[in-house]
Amino acid sequence: MAYSPRYSLEGRIACVTGGGKGIGRAIAERFAKEGAHVCIMDRDSLVIEEAVTAIQSQGGAASGHHLDVKDQKKVEEVFQAVEERYGRVSILVNNAGITRDQLLFRMSQEEWASVIGVHLNGAFHCTQAAQKQMVKIGYGRIITISSVSALGNKGQVNYATAKAGLQGFVKSVALELGPFGITSNAVAPGFIESDMTKATARRLGKPFADFVEEKTKVIPVGRSGKPEDVAGAALFFAGEESSFISGQVLYVAGGPKA
Ligand code: NAP
Repeated sequence: MAYSPRYSLEGRIACVTGGGKGIGRAIAERFAKEGAHVCIMDRDSLVIEEAVTAIQSQGGAASGHHLDVKDQKKVEEVFQAVEERYGRVSILVNNAGITRDQLLFRMSQEEWASVIGVHLNGAFHCTQAAQKQMVKIGYGRIITISSVSALGNKGQVNYATAKAGLQGFVKSVALELGPFGITSNAVAPGFIESDMTKATARRLGKPFADFVEEKTKVIPVGRSGKPEDVAGAALFFAGEESSFISGQVLYVAGGPKA
């Protein structure tokens, strides 16, 4: 019997925002290993180049696209350029994200608006641009990275609001685009080791190793999350076999979250 890889993304064009680093890069590397051409979309040329080179040196297909997801016009241009150069996008991962943690009473308008802008406006811009191409081919997989912070987190009213908002976004997109063969799901990670959590440790004045140890104490599986853990979940939603699963939120947190 012929071997058919369960999660093959052969021939697919996959766009990963914030794909130059951390979780986005792990997702991009994993998708490329499964045969997709991965478009790394990020705002720092250096990290884009590093990610593209790493994928290509492992035999994968990747291209770099300088993009700030807040800029709707640029998003439209970049997605159009991808379609013209590589073909229609069938997988989108809304992963680009930032934190600007602060207690509510001290939070500035800029701290609030920048987090809402990157996560919510960014996902709106990229999903709107990508779905045009997905509708044309009658197939699509949209994966949006939420967070356990959607359930509420002290010092993160901006981020928690954005990540909870994304869950509503994902479900609404699932309802609208289901008839076109497009699924929309969220992956909501818990504590994952990345530059984002390293920056949090620095801000709290804690060595990263101590911060990881502290976080690990309350994780049922007894270890911290790695970007590859999120990549595995994203791959599940990206594959053809998940076609009957849409509008869902999968917590990837080493234990149950509601
Ligand atoms: P990361 O290491 O900081 O990587 C995020 C990437 O997104 C960076 O390359 C960042 O660029 C880029 N980015 C930020 N704003 C952007 C914009 N406007 N346009 C394009 N790219 C932009 O963070 P991560 O930990 O991998 O996080 C990835 C996603 O997972 C985020 O949505 C985050 O909220 C979510 N998440 C993370 C954790 C965790 O524990 N790490 C938990 C739950 C959810 P710059 O470096 O220039 O900002």
